[in-house]
Amino acid sequence: IMGLITTQSRKFAILRERVEAERRELEAAQQALERVTQHDALTGLFSRLYGQERLEHEQQRALLSGQSFGVVLIDLDHFKLVNDQHGHHVGDEVLVQFAQAAQHVLRDTDLIARWGGEEFLVILPDTREASEALQALDRLQTQLLTTAVSDTVPSLRISFSAGYALWAPPEDVAFLLQRADRALYEAKRTGRQRAVQAS
Ligand code: GH3
Ligand code: MG
Ligand code: MG
Repeated sequence: IMGLITTQSRKFAILRERVEAERRELEAAQQALERVTQHDALTGLFSRLYGQERLEHEQQRALLSGQSFGVVLIDLDHFKLVNDQHGHHVGDEVLVQFAQAAQHVLRDTDLIARWGGEEFLVILPDTREASEALQALDRLQTQLLTTAVSDTVPSLRISFSAGYALWAPPEDVAFLLQRADRALYEAKRTGRQRAVQAS
């Protein structure tokens, strides 16, 4: 009987180790999956999916706290020309450099996600003053006009157009984005390289 008990408890110990190893593997796989779905592979910025989640979260938070928040939709100007004139590789370089410049200019609490090809969403929590957001966009625009955005073509400069909208309760995030998008369209229509505030 003692022999049987010893053999069984050894088997249990091995089994427990296996279960523990599998749990660790599963956890690592889950973390890897999260990294992939939450981030954009090229720029390292947050993904559209994650940006959307955070937007909903920000709206809920603002509803409870009574604070407001702002969103900005950014679209690089004449980006197709960059690809056409210098190649897709240079276009990719520009996207990466833009992402870095934007992260540098924004506050730690702001969030920037790659919304589409050459489009980006910025969430500015607890923003009451539109001027604060517009000043940050101005700083980014100035930096881009004076900094190289491609190692391959150091003389290349880019600009962007932006639409800014400040959330007001109890606005739906879809509607907020629509307002920002209309403001962005207005920025394009009136000459690009500018930010327009949504009504
Ligand atoms: P506008 O000022 O009106 O925004 O003009 P635009 O040329 O920026 O706009 P358009 O929508 O015509 O072109 C966007 C281009 O972005 C087209 C597409 O090939 C390019 N693009 C989208 N995603 C990527 C990417 O990941 N890498 C590169 N290199 N180009 C991309
Ligand atoms: Mg676009
Ligand atoms: Mg564009």
